[in-house]
Amino acid sequence: MRDWLAHRVDASPDAEALVSAASGRTWSYEDIDDAADSMAERLAGLGLAPGDHLAVVTEPRTEYVTLVHAAMRLGVRLVPLGHELTPAELRPRLDTAAPTLLLCGSETEGAAVEASSTGSADGDPTVPVVSFDDPDTDAVAHLRRADAEAFDPATWDRGDPLLMLFTSGSTGSPKLVVLTMGNVLSSAVASAFRLGVDPDDRYMAALSFHHTGGIMPLYRATLYGTSVVLRTGFDAGGVADDVREYDATGISLVPTMLRRMLDARGTLSDSLRVVLLGGAPASEELLERCRNYSVPVHPTYGMTETASGIAAARPTEAFDRVGTVGRPLFWTDLRVVDADGEGVPPGDVGEFVVSGPTVSPGYYRNREANETSFVDGELRTGDVGYRDEEGFCYVLNRVDDRIITGGENVDPGEVVAALREHADVDDAAVLGLPDEEWGERVAALVVRSDPDLDAEAVTEFCRDRLADFKRPRTVAFAEELPRTDSGTVERPAVRERLGEADE
Ligand code: ATP
Ligand code: MG
Repeated sequence: MRDWLAHRVDASPDAEALVSAASGRTWSYEDIDDAADSMAERLAGLGLAPGDHLAVVTEPRTEYVTLVHAAMRLGVRLVPLGHELTPAELRPRLDTAAPTLLLCGSETEGAAVEASSTGSADGDPTVPVVSFDDPDTDAVAHLRRADAEAFDPATWDRGDPLLMLFTSGSTGSPKLVVLTMGNVLSSAVASAFRLGVDPDDRYMAALSFHHTGGIMPLYRATLYGTSVVLRTGFDAGGVADDVREYDATGISLVPTMLRRMLDARGTLSDSLRVVLLGGAPASEELLERCRNYSVPVHPTYGMTETASGIAAARPTEAFDRVGTVGRPLFWTDLRVVDADGEGVPPGDVGEFVVSGPTVSPGYYRNREANETSFVDGELRTGDVGYRDEEGFCYVLNRVDDRIITGGENVDPGEVVAALREHADVDDAAVLGLPDEEWGERVAALVVRSDPDLDAEAVTEFCRDRLADFKRPRTVAFAEELPRTDSGTVERPAVRERLGEADE
């Protein structure tokens, strides 16, 4: 295969490829193709060659879309990095990814230069830094002013690494996941099989491009011949307004963002046919709001290692089976296994292991993590959950979050699910606190809708629903659960709050 943009421009050059919500400007695939050619020539002029790694650290911007294609045309592997990272966070990522070049914008130039020159003897950047914008210092080159150099467009096989993305680092240091062209292609196809493709689709790109959920829509739109709407920064009301203004038909969100958008605007534009909701569990309350306001929510489950979602539920499935992330997508095999790796019956809780064409060949330069995560052709996800009799999947928590109290295993997700059944509980996080007698004991941080709900009532409520050892021994309350950008609960912060409550 040539790069996908080259194939796309042959098939539908005039189709709309990109809309900027900031300026209202639109680009056809032919426009993007010209821009990608010119950008690829400049990158070649800066010394990039096939197989090189190209790191990029900027906020979402229209040139990012061009860059995705320019990199593919040149045959280089793109390494998107979070634009909020500090120099101290960027440096180890650069060490791992070993890029030939680091692309930045004016908003990230300072951090990029500092990260790149940390530890260098003469203070000069060890990884050359190039900016999309006018640079502040001589140490940084301007991409648009780089000399153009002719190059041979790359051809691609399914197994060729296309993209490398860092995991969120929820369970330790972020790991650099290699995604091949085949991984991304299979993910796009499987997603289309579940969600469908309309030729007039316009996807609102609202998540950062260093997450799979953020960058996949760019590749997918090119494969589908559909369009992407791009905006910078996340303000809930603004995104909701732009979805309406530009008649977006799809959007990917984490639960916190969706909740804020509904808070800000009540409901979402009826142009939407797909709202993919993932990264963290969707609360019953949030799903209820989606049902009441006809938001076409599709709860989904996936991870960086599987090039985004590997399961997704349709709205009716999500409303009828609260907490489900649907059945696995086409091609993905998802097994639930016990501690010995043996499959467990429907309804029983265990670790999810998955295999299929979207599963990454492994982490870059991380033998230890590869040995624990990629076992016998399957990916051990580190997530705990179950499948019901009909094959619907439910994610409870991570293996690492399991509480061991008096020798018994407690999965916090099960306790959270029981707590959520209480009408006055909006949300909850559960973890184990150190306990002299039991090793650990179950503790819950609860977001309540009724201020009169107290710890005793919460414990009492669990009595009918959970075995004695699973019942929270410590209960504290919070206005909101601390969450990361991607919407996952920040467990250290929860632990701190619960520790304080315990004193
Ligand atoms: P690290 O692997 O570095 O610890 P991470 O797993 O948080 O970080 P990501 O790949 O960004 O990094 O996130 C994938 C994880 O997010 C999944 O393994 C799962 O734990 C969680 N997740 C994704 N979707 C859902 C969902 N719908 N419900 C619950 N958890 C989800
Ligand atoms: Mg992970």
